[in-house]
Amino acid sequence: MTNQLIVLAGPTAVGKGTVVKYILENYPNVHLSVSATTRSPRPGEVEGESYYFLTHEQFDDMIAAGDMLEYAVVHGQNKYGTPKQPVLAALASGKQVILEIDIQGARQVKTTMPEAKLVFIAPPSWDELVKRLQGRGTETAEEQARRLETAKDELAAQSEFDYVVINDEVARCASEVVDLMQA
Ligand code: 5GP
Repeated sequence: MTNQLIVLAGPTAVGKGTVVKYILENYPNVHLSVSATTRSPRPGEVEGESYYFLTHEQFDDMIAAGDMLEYAVVHGQNKYGTPKQPVLAALASGKQVILEIDIQGARQVKTTMPEAKLVFIAPPSWDELVKRLQGRGTETAEEQARRLETAKDELAAQSEFDYVVINDEVARCASEVVDLMQA
């Protein structure tokens, strides 16, 4: 059953969110796991849809209760994690489940659920990644620099993944991911 679980990871601003949105709109049997985080909501983000926004204490309580499938400190600042119960429920109801998480989380899922497929979404080039991050304009220069540092480490870890898909064009990238899910 856990072979219906797909973990999507990849560097900041590679466009994972856009690819996932495209998949959800076009493939109804796919369920996206909503993560929990201790970071503050950005303008327009919705509680329970974008993330479950938790205090550090609430987050740590969930870890202690064994309610996180995986979790990690991302970009050296905040905790992000996958609430376990909704994922298991979606798999049990026959859905294909996508986790959009960072590479540390991807490694944990591979350990606890070895049949999960790990897909790395890569940018067409480093320059294109920098351009997408700067163009997004949602982070300060300092935050952008921190994210690019993390991105270097993440790109170096591509070989740990079962598949690498280049996000050159959203629809093409999404259909490649869907093909992998159904393989
Ligand atoms: P952002 O702050 O831009 O929403 O997300 C920052 C990073 O956190 C992204 O690279 C994203 O993949 C990662 N992330 C989001 N949710 C989770 C999660 O549940 N677990 C882990 N390990 N990483 C996550």
